[in-house]
Amino acid sequence: MAHPVSVTLDVEDLRPSHDLPERAVLMTHRVLDLFAEAGVRASVYVVADLAERRPELVRRAAEDGHEVGLHGHEHVPLPIVGADRFGAVTRDARALLQDLSGQSVEGYRAPMMSLVPASNWAVPILADLGFTYSSSTLPAPSPLYGWPGLPRRAFRWADGPVELPCPLVRLPFLDLPYLGGTYLRLLPDAMRRHGTRRAGPDEVLWTYCHPWEFDPDEAYHPHEHIGTLASRVAWLRRSRMERRFRRLLGEPVGPPLADRVQSLAAAGLPVVDPAQPPALGRAARLANGRLRSS
Ligand SMILES: [Zn+2]
Repeated sequence: MAHPVSVTLDVEDLRPSHDLPERAVLMTHRVLDLFAEAGVRASVYVVADLAERRPELVRRAAEDGHEVGLHGHEHVPLPIVGADRFGAVTRDARALLQDLSGQSVEGYRAPMMSLVPASNWAVPILADLGFTYSSSTLPAPSPLYGWPGLPRRAFRWADGPVELPCPLVRLPFLDLPYLGGTYLRLLPDAMRRHGTRRAGPDEVLWTYCHPWEFDPDEAYHPHEHIGTLASRVAWLRRSRMERRFRRLLGEPVGPPLADRVQSLAAAGLPVVDPAQPPALGRAARLANGRLRSS
């Protein structure tokens, strides 16, 4: 039987310049409309600099009954933010979202799943700041940010929050984050169904999407930090995203991730020390991070 899939949305504005048309607001409302139509409660992770400019997005997500989480103070990968700045900017960002949403912000999602061995310093800081969970890791080699060797199921960071890693489907030569973003747009529906049927009993399945993925009318511009090739891919097949997503919302949907964390038996979760990353094989070392631009 297929496992329920929790729905998550990363609200971000990836324009390289504010001279370009602002489509993030329009498209976020459209995706929230889609959730409302389907009667779905989601986890909505918002980048704080966008929340500051457009507080109505956070207010609406909270009023619609969604969980509000943090998707970074800006949309910058953790290794680039750096350990020195991360604590202060993330504390302020969480406080802002709490003020706007009226919720305790429990969840953190690193921009671009960029919680990796090079940014493992973020884990104790997230714990200190009061986050009870993170969904910031991709436990396989990835052309952008991956942490191969992490468990596929929910686990607890040693002295830190619960981690809900990005769900993967295992194929003969690679593992794909089939439930989210680009992969959801490009892969056939059969792949999603195959993955959700094959998931282990301890895996917490969640999909992720971005407002811009639903926007075929946005003129092309490169996204920062991912290079030209990955930016081009971000424009592929946007016109099919809404149809794809509607089908997914018609299948068994799970509650927001904060609810799922609460219902996990914390004592039974494996514990991972972020300071002891697993050794990588040669293939994983070669594949990981190939498309990062900096
Ligand atoms: Zn993002």
